[in-house]
Amino acid sequence: MSALPDPVAILAVSADEARHAPTRELLWRMPDAQPEIHWVSSADAAVAALAVRDEDVVLLDCDADPAGGTAAARRILREAPHVPVILIARGPDPALDRAAADAGVSDFLVLGDVTPEELERSIRYAVARKRELSSLAASGERYALALRGSNDGLWDWDVASDRVYLSPRWKAMLGYSEAKPDGTREAWLDRIHPEDRAALAEALEAHLSGAAEHFEFEHRIRHRDGDYRWMLARGTAVRNAEGQPLRVVGSQTDVTDRKESERRLQHDAMHDALTGLPNRVLFLDRLDQTIRRAQRRHPEGSAAVLFLDLDRFKLVNDSLGHLAGDRLLVDVARRLESVLRPNDTVARLGGDEFTLLLDEVTDVREAIHIAERVQQTLAAPFELEGRGFFVGASIGIAVATADSLPEEVLRDADVAMYRAKGAAKGRHAVFDAGMHDQVVRRLDMEGGLRRAIEERGLDVAYQPIVQAATGRLVGFEALCRWADVDPAEFVPLAEETGLVLALGRWVLETACTELARLRRLPHGAGLIMSVNVSGRQLAEPGFVEVLQEVLESTAVEPRAVRLDVKEDDLSPPARTVLEQAFRDAGVRSHIDDFGTGASSLRLLHRFPGDAVKVWRGLVAGMGRDAGSFEIVRAIVGLAHNLGLEVIAEGVETREQLDYLKVLGCEFAQGFHVSRPLTADAARALVETGVPAV
Ligand code: C2E
Ligand code: CA
Repeated sequence: MSALPDPVAILAVSADEARHAPTRELLWRMPDAQPEIHWVSSADAAVAALAVRDEDVVLLDCDADPAGGTAAARRILREAPHVPVILIARGPDPALDRAAADAGVSDFLVLGDVTPEELERSIRYAVARKRELSSLAASGERYALALRGSNDGLWDWDVASDRVYLSPRWKAMLGYSEAKPDGTREAWLDRIHPEDRAALAEALEAHLSGAAEHFEFEHRIRHRDGDYRWMLARGTAVRNAEGQPLRVVGSQTDVTDRKESERRLQHDAMHDALTGLPNRVLFLDRLDQTIRRAQRRHPEGSAAVLFLDLDRFKLVNDSLGHLAGDRLLVDVARRLESVLRPNDTVARLGGDEFTLLLDEVTDVREAIHIAERVQQTLAAPFELEGRGFFVGASIGIAVATADSLPEEVLRDADVAMYRAKGAAKGRHAVFDAGMHDQVVRRLDMEGGLRRAIEERGLDVAYQPIVQAATGRLVGFEALCRWADVDPAEFVPLAEETGLVLALGRWVLETACTELARLRRLPHGAGLIMSVNVSGRQLAEPGFVEVLQEVLESTAVEPRAVRLDVKEDDLSPPARTVLEQAFRDAGVRSHIDDFGTGASSLRLLHRFPGDAVKVWRGLVAGMGRDAGSFEIVRAIVGLAHNLGLEVIAEGVETREQLDYLKVLGCEFAQGFHVSRPLTADAARALVETGVPAV
């Protein structure tokens, strides 16, 4: 059984000194107690006294307040719920006794009846019960907090004693058993990650001082296994009447998973999923930082950017499939990383485009040197599906100065890369201002071409194709015309920008319409029309449907239409589309420009078409070098063995035509036969019905 506090602080409330005297007498005579008595004369005075002093118990005289004993007791208990109140009556009063109990009074004593021993006992019980109640209240708060989230740990920091109560769950969250002793604020802070500690202490202080209404803080805390976990700590101070914090009670929630997924999201937004390299966003950010650093330190130069594009990636992707293509990109990424210096960055912008940020490179020669190293590491074959593949890269180089904009440096390097690629693949080129002008010209041209397509500003020329032996006209090749711009310039541009889709459809419609008309002319029956189709057009979903629509709307015989597809565009998927065009639409194809270099005679095998067009470069060489003649002979022989006919392109002289006749080449096309004609001239030619040569 606990003893009375020593000394025991008693607040006696009696209307006057005379009424207070008997109570004081009793108190002094209590056994084993050193009462410290403060006397006040009203309930109001008692409330005021309790606000500034911690009393152990209040002895309230029934007639101390005009409102009566119970009302006075209620008032005191409302203001100071933590202090027990004992009511003192002058005589027995059962009704008052019961009312007092309902008001929360600890005991009801009658002067005259009560002995000093009984008073001591009553006070002792009242103090002990109050103490128990307040600790119950504290654990009630803990309990309430626990309800907020069953997985939360709880802590309760007693400010004055600096003891921190930690719930079993709190301890378990950090890998400890319940037996681990509770701690102090310092010991708690010690576990917090050094980077978070000061800020957490500050947040806690802000709440203690009242500057912040709540305490809430995300921080890392050390687990027993040595790792840090992310926790959200929340708490509220329990304050005394003056607003001073007595305790801070709070919870701890494990937010490690959320933090981890936030971190991952942030990482994903900045990185390429396939290779794990930084993406364009992060690359530009690093470039920006590098330039800013240069502004502060050495404004004469800062960094170089290498813009790299693989030369034969499309080939791998088309022939081995996307999985192999992906593997290749990952292998390339790893090789690029291997040539980096510590502060450099390599990024993947998308597709087969990579960029390198070379930190603190001021001399372009250094950048060139690194570009050469990059090309060397990519020169070794890549192992794909058990075979070695050679994949070169073209690299553009741009040097940033302190006043460059990151996007501009990247664009300049891109422009230089195009230059490198144009020259001959596998090269590198350094950006210069002339390139910029060229890019501007290209942009102008792109805009012009777009308008020409929209406003029907294009035209088609028709170049006759004749039977080599007789000169009889068999058909035409449709060639797109745009003002006086060379098709060799605007067609590749249309392919790069995707404009070739709209352009190609228009040419197809125009050529088919014209063919229908030509075939209705005298001598026009049986004429064919070759239409050029690029790989990009074949890769576009719905190509065959468009073809069918055009055939239907122009009412032209499908057998009379041929698709000219360059051998470089004959990837396996493109061949599938051509097979479908033949099967579903009845339209055949020609392999165009056959013999341009990368020719593979294997291409001819199972080609879903009916003719091969010999590249005009080989035809031109026939009279000059024996090699060309032999190659043309081989092509004609092989094509015939495979059941394909041969059309020779670019026949400019009678001599060339004679050679072709000797070799058994069926058809010829070229300036010697006829230049490309306007639609009117083509119609006139058909109507004459005489051989063109
Ligand atoms: P191509 O398919 O090889 O077309 C034949 C090119 O050779 C045409 O050039 C034609 O004018 C030219 N040519 C014809 N006979 C001779 C000759 O005896 N000597 C010489 N030196 N050249 C001759 P053009 O019209 O400038 O077209 C260039 C290329 O543009 C075409 O090459 C074709 O790839 C592309 N092209 C033209 N029209 C279209 C089109 O509608 N769609 C697509 N996708 N490409 C087109
Ligand atoms: Ca052609």
